[in-house]
Amino acid sequence: MNKIVEGDNVLLYLDRKRTYLVKVEEGKTFHTHKGFIDLSSLLSKEYGSGVRSSTGVEFIALKPFIADYAFKSLRKTQIIYPKDIALILMFSGVGPGSRVVEAGTGTGALTSALAFYVRPNGHIYSYEIREEFIKTALKNLQRAGLADYVEIEQKDITTGINEENLDSIVLDLATPWLVVPYAYDSLMGGGSFVSFSPTIDQVVKTVEALEEHRFVAVETVECLMRRMQTERGRTRPETLMTGHTGYITFARKALGKDS
Ligand code: SAH
Repeated sequence: MNKIVEGDNVLLYLDRKRTYLVKVEEGKTFHTHKGFIDLSSLLSKEYGSGVRSSTGVEFIALKPFIADYAFKSLRKTQIIYPKDIALILMFSGVGPGSRVVEAGTGTGALTSALAFYVRPNGHIYSYEIREEFIKTALKNLQRAGLADYVEIEQKDITTGINEENLDSIVLDLATPWLVVPYAYDSLMGGGSFVSFSPTIDQVVKTVEALEEHRFVAVETVECLMRRMQTERGRTRPETLMTGHTGYITFARKALGKDS
């Protein structure tokens, strides 16, 4: 089960800053600045094994995580960072079997993570207005083996949501407050609303709309992730960090808006 087979995507790890996502195929070589690697030599090795390049440098063959696919994806848009995706997953309640509407698809980094966690019976309906982004996102989803769990609809989500009785709605677009009325109607009672926005102005408008629509448990957070440099005698926070990505607003639908 843990063996590398033809067609697998493998993460070749050299060090923390240098990893390569490659597709293993018979007869293929991968060129790095440390020489080339004969990818056939990975076939039937166990994940976690080392492989040497033509110049004798060792790379470790790892099974890629969803975060690796996100960072190595073909990128046409900004993506939601794994640190933020992690919070979205935990606090949205999304899990196996969930039916989720997401917008906009963009590069599909968030879509991949959602699809990974709703498997095997859940589904993601992802809305995107721009056709060229849909094509790229589909490629990224196919590469990660997740395309079967996602339907991408070319539609402006601020004009309405087709699906009903949803577990969750997750937004990453410029005007999330315009989606709030449709989100209310499309969610099941208790369903979750999540919105990622870079600016406070967007958060204020979104929270006001949520409060007008009988959403409860409205909460906004920001996640700062500080990496540590870990070396004996020199262990301390790294000097540079990503100072800001966005704010994440969560809410739950309470029933009875029209009663
Ligand atoms: N979360 C994505 C990135 C989304 S970028 C990721 O992690 O990869 C924002 C996307 O929203 C863009 O592709 C943009 O075209 C799309 N978008 C903006 N407004 C939209 C709308 N009203 N309906 C659907 N998609 C929209």
